[in-house]
Amino acid sequence: MKPLKELTRPNIWNLKPYSSARNEYSGHVAHVFLDANENPYNKPYNRYPDPLQEEVKAKLAIVKSVNPEQIFLGNGSDEAIDLIYRCFTRPGQDNVVAIEPTYGMYKVCADINDVAYRPVLLDEHFQTTANHLLNACDSHTKVIWICSPNNPTGNEINRKEITALLQRFEGLVVVDEAYSDFSAISPLRLELNKYPNLIVLNTFSKAWGCAAIRLGMAFAQKNIIDIFNKVKYPYNINSLTQQQALQILKDPYEVDKWVKTLLLERSRMTEAFKLLPICKKIYPSNANFILVEMNDAQAIYNYLVEKGIIVRNRTNVQLCHNCLRITIGSKSENNELLAALRQY
Ligand SMILES: *Cc1c(COP(=O)(O)O)cnc(C)c1O
Repeated sequence: MKPLKELTRPNIWNLKPYSSARNEYSGHVAHVFLDANENPYNKPYNRYPDPLQEEVKAKLAIVKSVNPEQIFLGNGSDEAIDLIYRCFTRPGQDNVVAIEPTYGMYKVCADINDVAYRPVLLDEHFQTTANHLLNACDSHTKVIWICSPNNPTGNEINRKEITALLQRFEGLVVVDEAYSDFSAISPLRLELNKYPNLIVLNTFSKAWGCAAIRLGMAFAQKNIIDIFNKVKYPYNINSLTQQQALQILKDPYEVDKWVKTLLLERSRMTEAFKLLPICKKIYPSNANFILVEMNDAQAIYNYLVEKGIIVRNRTNVQLCHNCLRITIGSKSENNELLAALRQY
């Protein structure tokens, strides 16, 4: 890996961050707060939230087996994705490499930041190699994006290739593990300490059932997290979100139960789709959705919309012609979808 200073935008490396009232006071026990021009009334909403979300991170560190200082929390994973561009890529100069097809936000944020995006097409098994991705890089490539399990294909990207990439690439490798709770393969997050150039993304939006609160996580070694914390908005995670996160973190077993139920439903849906004459192929999934090739994805999509059932039509995505991406729902939701498809 190149020195982090070389990978960071020079203005960001030299940035002196905003110092909030709550940053400057810390440690002492206090009960009179006259430092932040808050209104003393309307408790508890009158107070600014903890800018570094220390209570949430302390709990999360245990659940995720990382150190608190290896965690960045953002307004969804999307904030972390955008911050990676704003911290490490120079507009109009640098580029990033990513697997294709994958999650759409990596490219949208590249475009917003005026950074060239170099997609590298997966093979017919939705796999890639370190060589393939490295061949797409040049001296201005700062970041490689991997999503595993990948959206919309549902499969894990070969772990040997990812670790080879981490060892050989001079820049940063982001591995988005939004769906790792649904996978049988151990998350790469647990190997964070081995790789100084690894950033892992997680989210509260999928297995944790909290898409509404907008809370995403980035895990990386402390020197990278420190840069994110310098650049983020001072109070990027509001109090309501922090409270709800603490609530859900109290009961990770509830999350485990949801995941187990969804995995059983995923198997059941896979078997049921095999029996549908309109379904040509079911791709194996390590996520909470299945990618299925249908005989006419657009027509089936339209038919389902008429019935008030919405799935994701991926027919215009490369390698996904005539494919629908179907989220695993509750048993009754899944049954309603199956009944509709049997009638088609
Ligand atoms: C759903 C999803 C996310 C979650 O994004 P949030 O902004 O945290 O809701 C992140 N990455 C991938 C690949 C996803 O599919």
